[in-house]
Amino acid sequence: MDRGVKRVKVWILGTGSNGNAVLVEGDGTRVLIDVGFGPRTLATRLKAACVDPASIDACLLTHDHSDHVSGVARAARRWGWAVFATGGTSQAPVLADVSVTPLPVGQPMRIEGLEITALPIPHDATEPVGFLATSVSTGARASICYDIGHADENVRTLCREVDVLVLEANHDEGMLWAGPYPPWLCQRIAGNVGHLSNRAAGALARDSVTARTAHVVLAHLSQQNNTPEMARSVVRSALRGTPFRGKLTTAPQDGVVGPFMPRGGRVEDPRQYSLF
Ligand SMILES: [Zn+2]
Ligand SMILES: [Zn+2]
Repeated sequence: MDRGVKRVKVWILGTGSNGNAVLVEGDGTRVLIDVGFGPRTLATRLKAACVDPASIDACLLTHDHSDHVSGVARAARRWGWAVFATGGTSQAPVLADVSVTPLPVGQPMRIEGLEITALPIPHDATEPVGFLATSVSTGARASICYDIGHADENVRTLCREVDVLVLEANHDEGMLWAGPYPPWLCQRIAGNVGHLSNRAAGALARDSVTARTAHVVLAHLSQQNNTPEMARSVVRSALRGTPFRGKLTTAPQDGVVGPFMPRGGRVEDPRQYSLF
């Protein structure tokens, strides 16, 4: 892969309650957002995207839930990654033996060719954040926002006018309340610090996209309370009548999809990579 290409590229290496990892590349810099998979799974998925794990410059964590941090200690040890997390996230027992650099919240941080902005987001974890990654040379922007209970002002700031928008579309409200989960769990998921529904994701996407938006990528879909078709259908309807002319994609739990890139003329289709 040409690391000299001055564009932001995003791959989803898997997303959902069984694990999350998102690779962002820009100006030759690679950062991994969340490590919710073990090193073996992660290595397979990075290989599918033709990325050497040792070439990753830093690892950034959104929050301390196990589907986002379970593999970070082993991966950081194996591949020598620098790990960045908020003070709250770094208290997680799974990070006890990891050297964690404090993540500045609300202040952009430069990691070589990428500028990273972390803002607090509403979720039932300790100091959770969402990320905006900006290419220093081109200004191309990608937002990674999942595990958000509702779209508050920070979430809106992170998602506004980006080239690639990775956004949670966790559940269909009807399926959630009619499904097998006990009421307390439904309440937690649908609550203010739980997870974003398809409807809320659609409304947020609608308010966020502009003509520059090349990709809206729906992430962290529930396998019980959602289907990719439903998520796409709800968000596609919400995007009707907006200037958005890009691609709408759902990212799978157990597969790799990408690269999602800013517009370079025609918006390119992402690839679904087969794992072996
Ligand atoms: Zn999660
Ligand atoms: Zn979470």
